[in-house]
Amino acid sequence: MSTEPDVVLIGAGIMSSTVGVFLKELEPSFSIAIFETLQDAALESSEAWNNAGTGHAANCEMNYTPERPDGSVDISKALEVNVEFDLSRQFWTYLVKKGAVADPRSFIHPVPHMSFVHDAGNVAFLKKRYAAMSAHHCFEGMEYSESGGQIADWVPLVMEGRAADEPAAITRIISGTDVDYGALTHHLVHHLVAQPGCSVHYKTRVTHLVRAENKRWRVEVQDLDSGEMRSVTAKFVFIGAGGGALPLLQKSGIPEGHGYAGFPVSGIWMRCDDPAINKRHHAKVYGKAAVGSPPMSVPHLDTRVIGEQHSLLFGPYAGFSSKFLKHGSLLDLVESIRPANVKPLLSVARDNFDLTEYLIEQVLQSESHRLATLDEYYPKAEPKDWRLQVAGQRVQIIKPDVKRGGLLEFGTELVGASDNSLVALLGASPGASTAAFIAISVLQKCFAGELTGQAWLPKLKEMIPSYGISLINDASFTRKIRTETARVLKIEDVNSKPMQEKDRTAAAR
Ligand SMILES: Cc1cc2nc3c(=O)[nH]c(=O)nc-3n(C[C@H](O)[C@H](O)[C@H](O)COP(=O)(O)OP(=O)(O)OC[C@H]3O[C@@H](n4cnc5c(N)ncnc54)[C@H](O)[C@@H]3O)c2cc1C
Repeated sequence: MSTEPDVVLIGAGIMSSTVGVFLKELEPSFSIAIFETLQDAALESSEAWNNAGTGHAANCEMNYTPERPDGSVDISKALEVNVEFDLSRQFWTYLVKKGAVADPRSFIHPVPHMSFVHDAGNVAFLKKRYAAMSAHHCFEGMEYSESGGQIADWVPLVMEGRAADEPAAITRIISGTDVDYGALTHHLVHHLVAQPGCSVHYKTRVTHLVRAENKRWRVEVQDLDSGEMRSVTAKFVFIGAGGGALPLLQKSGIPEGHGYAGFPVSGIWMRCDDPAINKRHHAKVYGKAAVGSPPMSVPHLDTRVIGEQHSLLFGPYAGFSSKFLKHGSLLDLVESIRPANVKPLLSVARDNFDLTEYLIEQVLQSESHRLATLDEYYPKAEPKDWRLQVAGQRVQIIKPDVKRGGLLEFGTELVGASDNSLVALLGASPGASTAAFIAISVLQKCFAGELTGQAWLPKLKEMIPSYGISLINDASFTRKIRTETARVLKIEDVNSKPMQEKDRTAAAR
């Protein structure tokens, strides 16, 4: 490995690997080194069971469509998230066409996305939401039903055992997906390190980031087997370290990172691997979040396809752990406290009492409480068919705010040096689904000059044909892109003939 790579990527998860592939495709002469603490890629949040695998396109997540004070439904956030997922679909399509991923079924499967509610107030909300969304071309093909018979046809497990007069409603969009982000990360890392000048270094922790000469960064690393310390210097550093990004941002000492803090939220799923049950549910069914719960704690009953295994996942049950990574240290939170972020931390604690209460309640939940929540989505669920599965950690961003002292954010944010030589990705929502959007944002922020040049722009348009076009405004381009990406990725397209059952479930059972 060169001791002077052009680019250092910290962490071998979906974000670093996506940024790395974009950079290498656009600038084949770049040398790139990835450093990863663990023994393989995608063992933290990007690992299949550490996240829910939803290809978040805002089809079913009701937290992206808040009700305005006048009762109308605001779909602007849902549209943003929806077209961000189109960027990922185009990037993955490019990789499949190029042969970098042999079979899209190794990481993505068609699974309808649904929103389900079962009380009169929420039925009225879902109906309004459906009217607002289905009128926009980005959500065309969305279906709505209040009929028990129709809902039972789409999701039998959700309806069995319910009183016939219980109000219920559902929306469905068949073009939804389940994505194994762990498998995808492996494809990306393999593709990257197979190219000249690229390498990945496992069991190697980045310990310090120091400004070096010639506008480079000295990246100090420790070999976790031998304990040996060494360093490389790079022109550009991407801190894609998931929950480990905040401490590294702090170590870089860039003033742009001052005052940031992190709030870790842990998660648990319930998981069912019984084929007799799982074959009767083919959907990701999202409900409404409980009062005070963070937006990413919306309960959902999901089909998961991981390798050859078809399972059901329910959850998440959020919790609190002071670790920033699943394989992290209980001291992570305490060690991240600095004089500059004490005020933001205290302000967030003061202003988010609902959330604190919710997390404490979740941590204290017994098995019977967990099953009661599952019953709301699967009334006939039997405890013996389910087991617990620990999910990944998410570190929510706490940022300084002049007015309130500090703000708790549930999205993601790129925080970078003013000379664009280093950038860290903080936060985790909507997450892996928007990795291509994040990578493009990194390019726009840190490689703006190259991006407008003759070499990079045509290549980027080859990778992302919609680059520079608003899919929110251009209906015919959206349809064209979706039909093409659905064809290559072997997923459903609302404007094409639905897949045959055997094609839809191929490799899933
Ligand atoms: C419960 C849960 C459910 C989720 N559901 C979804 C979903 O349905 N859909 C979706 O799109 N997203 C979802 N997400 C979010 C998604 O998992 C993350 O956004 C995504 O995996 C983050 O990828 P990453 O590469 O940034 O981080 P990670 O995958 O965590 O990778 C970071 C890597 O950096 C390494 N690292 C850390 N510190 C260092 C260091 N100092 N030196 C070297 N290496 C280091 C870590 O070991 C790790 O391998 C979910 C997340 C959680 C926790």
